[in-house]
Amino acid sequence: MSVGRSILLAASRSKTLNDFALRSRFVKRATSRFMPGEHAEDALAAAAQIVATGRGVVFTQLGESITRAEAAEKVRDHYLWLFDRIAELRLPAHVSVKPTQLGLDLSMAQCERQLLELAAKAAETQSTLWLDMEDSSYVDRTLDLYRAIHEKYPATGVAMQAYLNRTPEDLAKLMPLRPMIRLVKGAYDEPPRVAYEKKPDTDRAYYDLASGMLAAARAGGCTPVFGTHDSILVSRIAERAKALGVDESKYEIHMLYGIRDAAQRTLAREGHTVKTLISYGSAWYRWYMRRLAERPANVWFVVRSLVG
Ligand SMILES: Cc1cc2nc3c(=O)[nH]c(=O)nc-3n(C[C@H](O)[C@H](O)[C@H](O)COP(=O)(O)OP(=O)(O)OC[C@H]3O[C@@H](n4cnc5c(N)ncnc54)[C@H](O)[C@@H]3O)c2cc1C
Repeated sequence: MSVGRSILLAASRSKTLNDFALRSRFVKRATSRFMPGEHAEDALAAAAQIVATGRGVVFTQLGESITRAEAAEKVRDHYLWLFDRIAELRLPAHVSVKPTQLGLDLSMAQCERQLLELAAKAAETQSTLWLDMEDSSYVDRTLDLYRAIHEKYPATGVAMQAYLNRTPEDLAKLMPLRPMIRLVKGAYDEPPRVAYEKKPDTDRAYYDLASGMLAAARAGGCTPVFGTHDSILVSRIAERAKALGVDESKYEIHMLYGIRDAAQRTLAREGHTVKTLISYGSAWYRWYMRRLAERPANVWFVVRSLVG
């Protein structure tokens, strides 16, 4: 992992920097590149524009590591409202949540109950609930939650991280469920005993996992979603799909709001199913630092906002 990336990921855990950033008008301004605003209505307005370009959207309210049961319930209520709002606006939209935002650190049982409520609402409103994957200490619990929710609501999806050594085995174990998987590279600061340190190793693992998912999709055993902005990987995956005879309608490509927007539009124009993940909310600091860490050159955007 590069020094810049390690520093930014370490800074993402600093409470002092978090408090400073949330108070700073300038840092807040710099976040506008990655999020349309702090309110759900900002995200819904941005979604309408994205949908007009032939893409779908995925919404997520920022927040993680919630430590009070009432706060987790408030998050659940927000998402229940959001599913209704999506239906009302007839948006082709999914919702993605972090289990720790729904109380995983407090109680697995409470978190599962709340996720089941959200999955039921997703089914009722013909949307889809996704579980994000957080750092490696949460993988077992997140996959257990996914299994429990998937049993009742099979149209639920879960993210899996290519940088983790364990992912090929986890994926193989999930395959009998015919899961919906969003494959991502992985955004956290993981020790070398659990994750690849070098980017080319993660990229290679991503392609291998993607190929396996496509082969499973051909037999109807998996719905693959590729969550990456890596155009080379996306092209290789599309070629692989073609070689395997997997139609473009059998997989999706998801990217983040504000990143490679032109590539997102082009892929949609070419006939791919593309969704843009839109984040919003006031608890943006840790998430924003992970975006900077993915591309330390992004720090210059912040510096420019500070001086300009
Ligand atoms: C839809 C979606 C959902 C995600 N969900 C999760 C999750 O649940 N758990 C998790 O750990 N991670 C998640 N991530 C983040 C993911 O793990 C990576 O950290 C992130 O996507 C960067 O990796 P990359 O695949 O884009 O490839 P990279 O090789 O890092 O980037 C490829 C190219 O994309 C562009 N790019 C990438 N990131 C940025 C950026 N921040 N700013 C500007 N340009 C950039 C650059 O041009 C770069 O060269 C998600 C990502 C996406 C797209």
